[in-house]
Amino acid sequence: MAAVSPEAERYVERFAAFVEASPSSFHAVRAVADALDAAGFSGHDESDVWPAICGGARGYALRDGALIAWRAGADVAASSPVRVLGCHTDSPGFVLKPQSDFTTEGWAQAGVEIYGGPLLNSWLDRDLAFAGRVVTREGSARLVRTGAVARIPQLAIHLDREVNNGLTLARQRHTQPVIGVAGASALGLLAEAAGVDADEIAGLDVRLADTQSPGRVGADREFLASPRLDNLSSVFAGLDALLAAEPAPGAISILAAFDHEELGSESRSGASGPFLEDVLARLRAGLGASVEDAARALAESWCMSADAGHAVHPNYPERHDPHVRPQPGSGPMLKINANQRYASDAHGASLWERCCADAGAPAQRFVSSNDVPCGSTIGPLTATRIGIRTVDVGVPLLSMHSARELVHVEDLHGLARIAASFFAGA
Ligand code: ZN
Repeated sequence: MAAVSPEAERYVERFAAFVEASPSSFHAVRAVADALDAAGFSGHDESDVWPAICGGARGYALRDGALIAWRAGADVAASSPVRVLGCHTDSPGFVLKPQSDFTTEGWAQAGVEIYGGPLLNSWLDRDLAFAGRVVTREGSARLVRTGAVARIPQLAIHLDREVNNGLTLARQRHTQPVIGVAGASALGLLAEAAGVDADEIAGLDVRLADTQSPGRVGADREFLASPRLDNLSSVFAGLDALLAAEPAPGAISILAAFDHEELGSESRSGASGPFLEDVLARLRAGLGASVEDAARALAESWCMSADAGHAVHPNYPERHDPHVRPQPGSGPMLKINANQRYASDAHGASLWERCCADAGAPAQRFVSSNDVPCGSTIGPLTATRIGIRTVDVGVPLLSMHSARELVHVEDLHGLARIAASFFAGA
C-alpha cells in the first residue's frame, strides 16, 4: 500500500484544523467566513444594499448556520452561468433542551434532545463539550464553546449481563449526559463561556460535540478518524476549491453550505429554504439581468451536491450492492439512485467524468442495494427548488453518523481537487 501523498498530507492537516474549529454549524460557517475574509472576500449582511458584481468579485453572506460565497470569473455578464458546490454544515448528535439543568441521585445532568439520526451508542463514554450560539435578551448572538464537561455514561456490564446480546437505548432516559455533581449547571458553563451573566441569556442553539481531536489510523496512516466527516469533508473541499480555482471566464463559482440537512433541510437556512435562490436573485440583479438572461444562465448552470457516502463495510458486505463496491482510497464517488434520492443523471455522470479527468483524480460510483433504503442529500432539493442541473457526489466513509467516522485521506483530498476542476469549468 502506497503511503499518503505529500499533497494529501498537507490537505488533511488543514482539514483536521477546520473540523476542530467547527464543533457546530455556527462555528463551521464562522471558520469558512474567516478563511474567506483572509482571501479578500467581502461579507455582505442580508439587510444591507449589495454592490453590483463584476469580473473578479468575491463575496459571501451568512444566514445562521448557513453560508453562501461567490467568486466571479473574468467577463461575467447578465447571462453568466453559475457552478454551485452544495454541501451541509450540520451533523447528527444532541442539542441542549431548554431549562436543561436537573439533578438525579446527586448527579448534575443536562437535558438533551436528539438531533437527526446519530448512532446513539457511539456517543456513550465520550468526553463531550457544549458548542453553538447563545442570544442575549438584547438580541446579540455569541458563539460559545466549553471544554470537555459532559459524558453520556454506559451501564456497567455487571448491572446488565445481557447487554452484549443487543444494546437498546431509550431515547429519553438513557441519553442524558452527566455534567458534574449537584450544583453544576450547563447554563452557568455557557454563560461563563459567552462572558455574560446566565440571566442575560434568552436563547440557546447549543449542541454536544466530541472533544477528541481527529486522528490518523491505519498501517500507513492512510485513514482519518474524526467527528463530523459527514459533512465537513464536503464543506472544506468546497472552500478549498473556491479559494484555489480561478472560475472559468464568464462564469460564477458558488459555495452553498446549508444547515439542517440531517433534519430534512426544511428551514430558512436549510436547502429547502430560499437562501440560495435569494442570493442568486441578488447577484443576477447586480448584473442587470432580465428574466430572459436569468433563465438562459440557469440552463447552463450546474450544482455539484457533495455529501459523504458509504464505503463497502468489510464486516457487513451484504448490506451493499453486490457489484458496485466503493473502496477506501479509490476516490470520491458519483452517487446514483433511480428514485431521485440523489439527483445525478447521465449528464451529471458526464460532468463528473470531465471534472475527475481534469483533476487527474481517481473516482468511483455508489448505488444502494435494493434491500437497503437509500439516504438522500441536498441535491434533489436544490434541483427541485432552483431547477438547476445537479450531480450528487461525496467521499466514502465507514461508520457514517457515528460520533467518530472514518475516511481515507486521499479521498478527502481527491474531492477538493475535483471540486476545483468543477469551479474551473471542466
Ligand atoms: Zn450528510
